[in-house]
Amino acid sequence: KKAEIGVIGMAVMGKNLALNIERNGHTVAIYNRTDARTKKVVEDHPDKNLVASYDLSDFVASIEQPRRIILMVQAGAGTDSVIDQLLPLLAQGDILIDGGNTFFEDTIRRSKKLDASGINFIGMGVSGGELGALNGPSMMPGGQKSAYDQLADIFEQMAAKADDGKPCVTYVGPNGAGHYVKMIHNGIEYGDMELIAETYNILRNLLGLSVEECAEVFKTWDQGELKSYLIEITADILTRKDDLGSGTPIVDLIVDEAANKGTGKWSSENALELGVPQSVITESVYARYISFLKSERVAASKQLSGPKVEPVSEDEKKELIDLLEKSLYFSKVMSYAQGFEQIKTASDHYDWNINYGDMAKIWRSGCIIRAEFLQNITDAFTRNPDLKNLLLDPYFKNIADQYQDSLRKVVSIAIKAGIPVPVLAAGITYYDSYRSAVLPANLIQAQRDYFGAHTYQRVDREGTFHYPWYPEQ
Ligand code: NDP
Repeated sequence: KKAEIGVIGMAVMGKNLALNIERNGHTVAIYNRTDARTKKVVEDHPDKNLVASYDLSDFVASIEQPRRIILMVQAGAGTDSVIDQLLPLLAQGDILIDGGNTFFEDTIRRSKKLDASGINFIGMGVSGGELGALNGPSMMPGGQKSAYDQLADIFEQMAAKADDGKPCVTYVGPNGAGHYVKMIHNGIEYGDMELIAETYNILRNLLGLSVEECAEVFKTWDQGELKSYLIEITADILTRKDDLGSGTPIVDLIVDEAANKGTGKWSSENALELGVPQSVITESVYARYISFLKSERVAASKQLSGPKVEPVSEDEKKELIDLLEKSLYFSKVMSYAQGFEQIKTASDHYDWNINYGDMAKIWRSGCIIRAEFLQNITDAFTRNPDLKNLLLDPYFKNIADQYQDSLRKVVSIAIKAGIPVPVLAAGITYYDSYRSAVLPANLIQAQRDYFGAHTYQRVDREGTFHYPWYPEQ
């Protein structure tokens, strides 16, 4: 019997996706460049419907036509190399799915190339890490709609299910749309993580809470409107002690240098390219970069002074914890407002026709940024599919009205105490800029005109103007 679908790449993600598909009642062909990985999967799962091949043409021949093949290999050159080897073996109408963390412009490029050979190409963002891949990830596929339709059944079976039972997968749009949305998902993930980290820093270093007490705060927040995977794992992380036996909370033993694989940077670069204000993700990327200047920071900490921090009273602590919960929620709203603004701008720019509400829907479960709060975004876009900015939706406008004061207070207190809050501050600054009918950009235009004769428009009449700044003009 031929396999219904194939997976190339038997590292952790590909193996788990294959097992996920098999669990849903399908026979899966598997292949990996290095035989040992494939052998291991077969040995570890002898009773599964897996058809293992150790030669790429055998693998292709083991799949029913039109073939559906998921690539789960290292993004970049690895993906190009596998596609090049596969191309002569495939037939018109076959569907290649790249499930790696691929840069969306690579997907656009590959999609054009494969189109010319009559091969369908789906670029699919997969989120949820290795457990998500096994038990149900959030999946963001982009490519030919007709090809997606031939995958929808299997994808819907594989995907995580939200509380209402709906699978966390939907057709995102043509060519690079799926990988684009995954990129923004990852950027938002950077923002969410940094916002939580800044809030934790205030709890620890301004309120003076112990790691255990912080764990309790996050546990409580995970029962409220902040309920989400990242808050849940943060609470759990903070309860964990040194696995090497010192008794110290593990978080205090981990070096404060946050690594990255570039997807946050891609989101920021693309925002700059499209002219979208994306301060939350960008500041989160910078926060990781500055964390990496560890030795410089340690040296600077011995030379540069900050303010004297007054201890916070027990009464103030309670009040501040409440403010922090609200400020975290409101700054998260700003992060998603920017993220969705970027998806909207990109959708117009690349002609993708993305359904924004559906994106929030497929992030409700399975992925790293899964959260109760995403339902509110879906609702907002259901109320108004053309919503310009999330902040203009009645639910989010109400949150802004109720919570902005908390974010203002938290940012002020942190700055006064010398605790860095680049992303919380970016959140409130974005809010204030976005709601300003007039910004001091008029002065910038005057400066540009002064030194470079760049001209300006006037508020009171049509046309382009240049001011006689110099007497000789
Ligand atoms: P890795 O990213 O570590 O990639 C290893 C796999 O890629 C191996 O199967 C390896 O084969 C294969 N590979 C690398 N280069 C080549 C090549 N030139 N030709 C053929 N095969 C090659 O594996 P992961 O399972 O972690 O991730 C797979 C994909 O999924 C990546 O794109 C990753 O970014 C993405 N992803 C990962 C997530 C995670 O949590 N890990 C989450 C979401 C997406 P070999 O064994 O022969 O070396």
